[in-house]
Amino acid sequence: MPGLVLVIEDEPGIVDFLERGLRAHGFQVASALDGLSGTEKALAEHVDLVVLDMMLPGRSGLDVLAALRDAKPALPVIVLTALGEVEDRIVGLDAGAVDYLTKPFSLSELAARIRAQLRVASQAPLTSLRGGDVEVNLLTREVRRAGRLVRLSTTEFELLVYLVRNRGAVLSREQILAAVWGYEYDPGTNVVDVYVGYLRRKLHDDDRRTPIVTVRSVGYRFDATD
Ligand code: CA
Repeated sequence: MPGLVLVIEDEPGIVDFLERGLRAHGFQVASALDGLSGTEKALAEHVDLVVLDMMLPGRSGLDVLAALRDAKPALPVIVLTALGEVEDRIVGLDAGAVDYLTKPFSLSELAARIRAQLRVASQAPLTSLRGGDVEVNLLTREVRRAGRLVRLSTTEFELLVYLVRNRGAVLSREQILAAVWGYEYDPGTNVVDVYVGYLRRKLHDDDRRTPIVTVRSVGYRFDATD
């Protein structure tokens, strides 16, 4: 898989090790020895992924992370932390790093993480779902049936998204409950049936069947046929 990886790390020995190792794994590699030049390179050049050391002189790894998040939010960043720097790791993930590795790490582990992140980044983000004549916009949370705007509560929306994502499949009440309400919810509750009822009423059109089919003694299925 092609990809330009920018390594931002101040220890020349590690930079050298990463450059040679990642090239051997088929990546193109660029590097920067401090946070400032690293940020500049990441923003100026076409970089597919950044491997970022948190302990950097001058501009810290966290500052770099924040700058990249602002300017290139889709750019994946894998953070390197030293053993024991648990706080760094948590702060890094909070600040938007997509993954982290604790030193010392194996090169093949890093290469595998990079490949995984590049794969995710290459897939266009899913912004809408469609099941039959029901359209769900995941960004604006707008739902339409046959072009007609349907207003849903938050829970109704989450339930519909789950059903449409799994359209065509028979879903048990327990599955739906766990996915939408969480496992801690009382399995004896009839909340799934109640909310399916709400959804059906809101999706209802005079001349159309409901897209949510009851599967006797099991649960429900979102009918995907147009
Ligand atoms: Ca360092």
